[in-house]
Amino acid sequence: MPISETEVIRSRRVVLPDGERPADVLVRDGKIARIAPHGTLPADGHRVTDLGDTALLPGLVDTHVHVNEPGRTEWEGFATATRAAAAGGVTTIVDMPLNSVPPTTTPAGLEAKRKTADGQAWVDLGFWGGAVPDNLADLEPLHRAGVFGFKSFLAPSGVDEFPHLDAAGLEAALAEQARLGALAIIHAEDPAVLAAAPQQPGVHYRDFLASRPADAETAAVARLLDAARRTGARVHVLHVSSAAVLPLLRQARADGVQVTAETCPHYLTLAAERIPDGGTAFKCCPPIRDEANRDALWEALAAGEFIAVVSDHSPSTPDLKLLPEHGGSGDFAAAWGGIASLQLGLPAVWTEARRRGRTLAEVVGWMSSGPARLVGLDGRKGAVAVGHDADLVAFDPDADFAVHAAELHHRNPVTPYAGRTLTGAVRTTWLRGRVVDPGGEPFGVQLTRPSNPSEEIQ
Ligand SMILES: [Zn+2]
Repeated sequence: MPISETEVIRSRRVVLPDGERPADVLVRDGKIARIAPHGTLPADGHRVTDLGDTALLPGLVDTHVHVNEPGRTEWEGFATATRAAAAGGVTTIVDMPLNSVPPTTTPAGLEAKRKTADGQAWVDLGFWGGAVPDNLADLEPLHRAGVFGFKSFLAPSGVDEFPHLDAAGLEAALAEQARLGALAIIHAEDPAVLAAAPQQPGVHYRDFLASRPADAETAAVARLLDAARRTGARVHVLHVSSAAVLPLLRQARADGVQVTAETCPHYLTLAAERIPDGGTAFKCCPPIRDEANRDALWEALAAGEFIAVVSDHSPSTPDLKLLPEHGGSGDFAAAWGGIASLQLGLPAVWTEARRRGRTLAEVVGWMSSGPARLVGLDGRKGAVAVGHDADLVAFDPDADFAVHAAELHHRNPVTPYAGRTLTGAVRTTWLRGRVVDPGGEPFGVQLTRPSNPSEEIQ
């Protein structure tokens, strides 16, 4: 047995499940062993780290990250993505099944991911599977291998090796996932609505926005909810950008459909009116919409209608973004759709949350405990609570900093936040009680979906 390692972390602002208060947190062997009133735990033998007024939060859980490795490692890889995560206070990520080659749609694809990630994870990580046409038989072995659920698209995904499901395919995939007790996570845009929308290429953001109308989201969500009603599947709507889908979600919940939804920092902090011509760093699908929509998303967030705020970190190389500052055309229609900013989610959301009078405890609910609950890791991650992994973040909620893309840890220096000043700085990140050093050795572990008796395969 190794010698028991203990540390007391003391802060006047510890964000606990029931709110923020001064406290001492005793960490032993990677777990939170005790929480006591501030200044009361004796130093006897323990290292004491006094954070003063710097807040202590549970590490963030980001269930929507595209690592892209293997296969598109020049876009992003496990080492760079997980260093960015750690630097941004994220201690657990769940990797999306597409943009890597192979995609995570077969047990062999999952194995390729696991082998590649081994030894290069600075934070803990798990994997989503994918439900695509023709892989129905792969869902059960992937589920048994521990993926956290299955992602599907209702419209083209942007990469050929991960096709979208048509109506019959969605029905079949959801029926199988209902049988398995798996969580279906869905990119909800409707291909018919997209096809009917005006397609005007060029550098003007309003033309791109018109090509991905809010109706595409509402039509797809309506279709998804109908299929969820019929099949009994548990469904999660990824990256809600349009507040127009919220009444549909409320009605479905009232009808007993098991549906949750997430939104992302960029939908909560950026707005279409402010996106410059050629600003393709801001391109993502579904798109960033107008300021009135953003206000409506905040109202829903405050009302508890989103279980999670997660990055949808989906980077590519600068040339595929067609960035004018890298000599690209700035054409929104042709640029890769995806926002790269895993490291900035917490300060971006905190900056806007504070302006709107929301609390740090609420932000922790949206970015740590909520996503942990979504993937069933809430017994272990997402809270400063006794028995949980000591995944912790020292966060200075009053520090301002300017964003420089080249200083971020993700692979390619692209971010829509470049040049902005954000409030809230991550000072230290602990993973299972150890300080994470992006320049040091990685010690993240791979996670599998916790087994849940209510998820027994029927
Ligand atoms: Zn995504």
